[in-house]
Amino acid sequence: MIAGQCNCGSIHFEIRSQPSGVYVCHCSICRRSTGSNGIAVVLVSNDDFQWTRGQENVAMWTKPDSAWETWFCKVCGSRVPGRNDPARMFVPAGLLADGGNALKVIHHIWVGSKAEWDEIGDQGKQHVDGYRG
Ligand SMILES: [Zn+2]
Ligand SMILES: [Zn+2]
Repeated sequence: MIAGQCNCGSIHFEIRSQPSGVYVCHCSICRRSTGSNGIAVVLVSNDDFQWTRGQENVAMWTKPDSAWETWFCKVCGSRVPGRNDPARMFVPAGLLADGGNALKVIHHIWVGSKAEWDEIGDQGKQHVDGYRG
């Protein structure tokens, strides 16, 4: 079991399986959303994910004219887990407690549009555009 929480602790959740690894999205939308080089997430099946506290503090924003959604804590603004597709959640890797430490980056996506200053130095497979494997 891997626990996670937002910065203020209003929202807590648990993952009941070991994720295969971390996906880093470098696209311009994720960059603006986080103010960083993109976002690092793990993909977890709905059955292995559970909110344990504060789900009522989860807010969602949909980018107009797109299907792109972002999920965040209403109190502190931290990114929190959100729906990836009907069967899976994407869980920001930075929220995970100790159990997340054994994870490695396995995929970089939208590398074709990453920031110039964003230099990838790990062994994760690089994909020019999207990949959801
Ligand atoms: Zn919070
Ligand atoms: Zn992205």
